Amino acid sequence: MDQPIPYLDLPAQLRPLRKEIDAVIAKTLDNCSFCLGPDVVQFERDFASFCEAKHAAGFNSGTSALHVALLLLNVGPGDEVITTPHTFVATSWAISYVGARPVYVDIDDQTCTMDPKLVEKAITPRTKAIMPVHLYGHPCDLEPLLAICRKHNLPLVEDAAQAHGAKYKGKVVGTFGAVSGFSFYPGKNLGACGEGGALVTNSEAYATRARSLREHGSTQRYYHDEVGFNYRMEGIQGAVLGVKLKHLNQWTQARRHVANLYHKLLADTPLQLPHEAVWAESVYHLYVVRHPRRDALKKHLEEHKIGCALHYPLPLHLQKCYGSLGYKAGDFPVAEKAARECLSLPIYPELTDSQVQRVAQVIHKFFEG
Ligand SMILES: *Cc1c(COP(=O)(O)O)cnc(C)c1O
Repeated sequence: MDQPIPYLDLPAQLRPLRKEIDAVIAKTLDNCSFCLGPDVVQFERDFASFCEAKHAAGFNSGTSALHVALLLLNVGPGDEVITTPHTFVATSWAISYVGARPVYVDIDDQTCTMDPKLVEKAITPRTKAIMPVHLYGHPCDLEPLLAICRKHNLPLVEDAAQAHGAKYKGKVVGTFGAVSGFSFYPGKNLGACGEGGALVTNSEAYATRARSLREHGSTQRYYHDEVGFNYRMEGIQGAVLGVKLKHLNQWTQARRHVANLYHKLLADTPLQLPHEAVWAESVYHLYVVRHPRRDALKKHLEEHKIGCALHYPLPLHLQKCYGSLGYKAGDFPVAEKAARECLSLPIYPELTDSQVQRVAQVIHKFFEG
């Protein structure tokens, strides 16, 4: 029997770095710099530079970075934020947390990101921001979205939680909009040993207020300028992320190699494969194929001990938690079809060519058998 191929293999990523990571964690224990501290400051500098941005602020999660991003733009109760229904729920959480309403627009069938052609129709006098997602590691179509933002004087917030280093027309994402949020959840392309996130911006004023908001609304201890949060990045996570960031470009190349191999080996199957737009350089956080018989294919892969996953099985406008928004099935047909057909195959830097070949073989068998 062939070896199982896990959907995600975090131990394989940690193994070669283990000594180095143990050492930086030990140093943090010696210093007791547990909340923020020098390693977080250094990581913020390094991650800002990776994003070709002026500022990055470390957070305790991507969700809290996105929440603060909307607070910086003064989005609040009664406001609307235009976003996508086909994403991880945290994109919409940020909107709900500030008391605003998510207004969904459908996605583009090729890239599964917000369809710019549908955005202007969704703008109302209450619209305060547009929040697209660079989903699966593939940038959304930023230029037409930014043109709409300029025309209507609206800020753009990038949910870049899945897209560390992804490029739009040769420039890395994260500073196309006013503010962006990244996640360092362990399964992300750059993952902490725990939770983590970052807010990235070129605005000094936003960076300063973001650092205050993440630390109880204060810049001076026990003096609180506004109601804030405990959203600080932990010292240990800053130290671990500093070690891992040095490998990120090489990991991205390895992910792109896996994706290219899948493209080649699956080209003759009936699957709809991920499409990289001409203006995009995806970092392939996920490799999502599409087919109407998705559920049967998933079962077939699992029977052959190949891990797979669904991103995402139910669009946000049909989630119970957003029932009060009043959307119904049929409102966003492209997103609903993507939710029915999507299947994420294993993809990570450590995945070998022979593992990819085996996944492709098992998929061929499904369609031949
Ligand atoms: C992971 C993710 C988030 C949230 O990040 P956390 O660090 O898990 O809070 C937000 N948006 C998207 C698209 C994500 O994939």
